[in-house]
Amino acid sequence: MHEVPDFADSADNRPVDATVIERLRQVEGASVSTDTSFAELTTLRLGGVPAAVVRCATTEAVVAVVRLLDDENVPALIVGGGSNLVVADRPGPLVAVVIEADAVQMSTRGHGLESTSAIIEAEAGAVWDEIVQMSVDAGFGGLECLSGIPGSAGATPVQNVGAYGAEVSQVLDAVQLYDRATGEVEWVSPDSLELSYRYSNLKFTSRAVVLAVRFELSIDGMSVPLRYGELARRLGVDEAEAAAGEIRRPSDQVREVVLALRRGKGMVLDPEDRDTWSAGSFFTNPIIDEAQVEDVRSRVAERRGAEEAASMPVFPAGAGHPGRVKLSAAWLIERAGFPKGYPGQGAPARLSTKHTLALTNRGEAADGTPTTADDLVALARDVRAGVAAAFGVTLEPEPVWVGVSIDA
Ligand SMILES: Cc1cc2nc3c(=O)[nH]c(=O)nc-3n(C[C@H](O)[C@H](O)[C@H](O)COP(=O)(O)OP(=O)(O)OC[C@H]3O[C@@H](n4cnc5c(N)ncnc54)[C@H](O)[C@@H]3O)c2cc1C
Repeated sequence: MHEVPDFADSADNRPVDATVIERLRQVEGASVSTDTSFAELTTLRLGGVPAAVVRCATTEAVVAVVRLLDDENVPALIVGGGSNLVVADRPGPLVAVVIEADAVQMSTRGHGLESTSAIIEAEAGAVWDEIVQMSVDAGFGGLECLSGIPGSAGATPVQNVGAYGAEVSQVLDAVQLYDRATGEVEWVSPDSLELSYRYSNLKFTSRAVVLAVRFELSIDGMSVPLRYGELARRLGVDEAEAAAGEIRRPSDQVREVVLALRRGKGMVLDPEDRDTWSAGSFFTNPIIDEAQVEDVRSRVAERRGAEEAASMPVFPAGAGHPGRVKLSAAWLIERAGFPKGYPGQGAPARLSTKHTLALTNRGEAADGTPTTADDLVALARDVRAGVAAAFGVTLEPEPVWVGVSIDA
């Protein structure tokens, strides 16, 4: 068994040996840069320069590079589209391994008229939304609600990406992993990943690298059942009917509506729109014991009045969380006194003007100083502390933090 070095260890600032960088340069399919910053690799456009950035054009190169770094005890961070990463201004001497292998294959299960489902297999570096588009164009159903999510295919099982009432776990068939402890490459079943709300046992652990993913989709061109009120409404479906049943719509129509809804919230990347210089939803919706709900509600009532308290959204937390419920992080943030755009014009990091739950990099402060990761971290701490003080609920960040922590 091999111990996987943790990139959090990089704070000890051991420099990466120059001979290791030289050996990385020798790996076929790998290209190495020592002056690329995380600001260039992440959608938040923040974070300093690591010891090296290694771009891997093939999955074989990914395995060879990660194996070499693990053997040398150099902290390695796997990077896809950088859309779920908060990286420190001084990330320390870790090596970023960017997966660029992006081959995609489509096939069907069964034969001809007997086909029962469609299969899409993608290497980890494939752009997620291009796969969704491809599946919809081919007349397959299952991925449409996950339209417009930035990043790579390989990252989708890592936090079981989800949106608009759907999660990737609903259609995930198998995942090819490079296990960093055993050195084995194998296809595993989604069951072994403990997928749940924005979680898998790959997230925060660095235990394995996803090399490829396989999805099983429907061939009738229809979406997964619509479970999200706003989406159902925009598709002309009665919300109550959608919540209760198995209402499906053509996947291309669902994709168009999802993209429109996401654009309205600044949740589709657009270099011109600073509201999208983010990591998406910054905090997960808090899951609390059912017994705690009345305490939170009474704190809301104290602060905002009984009517508002009665309208507090409370959802079932889902199968893996018996006796627990999910609250809306965005709702709590706004009620705690953090409106969209907080803390206002001139601040280098702000809440999105379109969506309370996105923390955004505005590029610079009023005096022209470029925004830093520290600015964003300060905003995250401010919001988290405000919600905890107001309602006794501790928000958990959704992105992966590198070289920096939300705890002061
Ligand atoms: C505007 C915006 C909107 C978003 N909307 C959503 C949304 O609706 N739903 C949602 O769930 N997420 C959303 N996100 C978050 C993000 O897009 C997803 O989590 C996405 O899957 C991250 O993919 P990535 O390739 O960018 O991962 P990265 O940010 O590069 O990496 C994230 C984490 O996954 C690990 N990782 C990445 N690739 C691999 C791999 N191949 N093997 C092992 N580990 C890997 C990294 O080491 C890191 O720990 C949004 C982000 C933004 C910026």
